[in-house]
Amino acid sequence: MTLNTVFTRIRSAAIFSVALSVTAFGAQTVITPPNNKYTPAQDVELGRKAAGEVEQHLPILRDEDVTSFVASIGRRVVDAIPQEFRHPEFRYSFQVVNVREINAFALPGGPMYFNRGMIEAARTEGEVAGVMAHELSHVALRHGTAQATKATKYEIGTLLGAVVGSIIGGNVGSAVAQGTQFGLGTAFLRFSREFERDADLLGSHIMAEAGYSPLEMAGMFKTIEKQGGPGGPQWLSDHPNPGDRYEYITREAQALAVRHVVRDTRAFIQAQGRLRQMAPAPTTEEATRHAAGTRGPARVPDARSGSRSGDIASPSSSYTSYSEGDLFRVSVPSNWHERPGSNAVTFAPDGAYGSGEQGSSFTHGIEIGVARNETHDLRTATDELVSTFARSNQNLSRPSSYDRVQIGGRQGLHTALSNGSSATGQQERIAVFTMLLGDGSLFFALGVAPRDRFSDYEGTFRKVIGSIEIVR
Ligand SMILES: [Zn+2]
Repeated sequence: MTLNTVFTRIRSAAIFSVALSVTAFGAQTVITPPNNKYTPAQDVELGRKAAGEVEQHLPILRDEDVTSFVASIGRRVVDAIPQEFRHPEFRYSFQVVNVREINAFALPGGPMYFNRGMIEAARTEGEVAGVMAHELSHVALRHGTAQATKATKYEIGTLLGAVVGSIIGGNVGSAVAQGTQFGLGTAFLRFSREFERDADLLGSHIMAEAGYSPLEMAGMFKTIEKQGGPGGPQWLSDHPNPGDRYEYITREAQALAVRHVVRDTRAFIQAQGRLRQMAPAPTTEEATRHAAGTRGPARVPDARSGSRSGDIASPSSSYTSYSEGDLFRVSVPSNWHERPGSNAVTFAPDGAYGSGEQGSSFTHGIEIGVARNETHDLRTATDELVSTFARSNQNLSRPSSYDRVQIGGRQGLHTALSNGSSATGQQERIAVFTMLLGDGSLFFALGVAPRDRFSDYEGTFRKVIGSIEIVR
């Protein structure tokens, strides 16, 4: 996850393929859950805490008709989970989030959230069921904690910050680094291609058992793809198409008999009609900006003990090394502490972090991570990265020029930006370092310090960058 998602995505090619074997010609694929060092009870604990955070920040739609429609499909889908993937501890629940984006996510142990936009976009009840069947397959196979298992250094408490930060962090909070959440998705919820394939296949089995054609699940993926605006829907970046999604779902469907076919879909039509009568849903950003605004100063970092720049200790001259997944190694001042975020890791001194669970908000220190970069050259990718930060940091300046730097033995770019920190109200400077990895994704580091302390920090950022070794 987190942290590891980051790293998970990067090394997905190296992940040992989840046991996936076809037993016989024409038979359905046998699916095996991946290795997992956590217990099902830890999935439940993690999911419950994350759900509490999610519901504090995202607007839950309180409409009996719509919610009961979603819950009734949910129960039907849950009842179709094969016996061997049931966990008696798990508690499946279904909520509708009153936001516009086409997205849905399920947390470890069972809580599931369906955006209103997803229900509005679905063409059939089976498409709604298809997204659920896929999401619940990830839950039943315990893919969230299985991903975290690959990152042995992170314990369950750290994962909570990661999962919550990844869902809401990009939309709540303040410092510039929150921009790194951009479209990168959701730690627990962003899966490797192997996990995607298994969730598609188990989802097909569940669909058939629940009385829906597995092809409707594939149909929903197509519906989602068609809706893709700039950058595509979040759901697809969290659930990447392994490449031949429609083909293997279609093949699998041929091996499956659809039981107890659902014929009455009036409730679906009624639920969509009901949604059409409501005021249009806000975007997630609009909804969470409002939520953040009403939460008062508790989220401002210096509500904790002294994070004003004057109170933060200067960077230590001794350095400590960290190894981040199998992606890179880095050395940072010994008085900076590591904090994983959803697609990046932050190193910062005491008092420099934003509050609690939101992940990557910080006022002093450096954040290092990896961003998706579909097709672009380094310069374009860096410009896009900065534009993404600018969406949540209205006072962020734009790069006027870049200079070349070496990062991990490769050619990279550096630029410096200024920003008005919404965390402190003070001016801050941000040193941006970027480089392309072998698979084309964008490696980045953001050094952040208040403007009046930046000259003290700049040399430290350069030293940290100079220590980076790319492992992969
Ligand atoms: Zn998925």
